[in-house]
Amino acid sequence: MADECKHGSLRRACPICLRDDEIKDLRAEIEQLREKVDKLPKTADGVRVIPLIDTYVFHPVFGDCIIIANHQARPWTTELMGNVVSVADCYSTREAAEAAKGE
Ligand SMILES: [Zn+2]
Repeated sequence: MADECKHGSLRRACPICLRDDEIKDLRAEIEQLREKVDKLPKTADGVRVIPLIDTYVFHPVFGDCIIIANHQARPWTTELMGNVVSVADCYSTREAAEAAKGE
């Protein structure tokens, strides 16, 4: 029957059809967002970051972990006392930066 959905409903689209369409749309949207997220850089501990987010790095002069804020998108670096610090050298948390300071 031409006016029957694949689930046997006499309507062209039953609740199952509508649900399946919505799932398909949501999966496509997730895939689009995932592609964008995959373009974001990762910290040294593998966490993806957005511009201006706080990250942490162990600073030997201070002997402590400091917050690196204000990473600018492209080239994903920030300026620290005359040095360029890449987001790839920073950590997502103070704990991760402290754990890595001996490396
Ligand atoms: Zn159906």
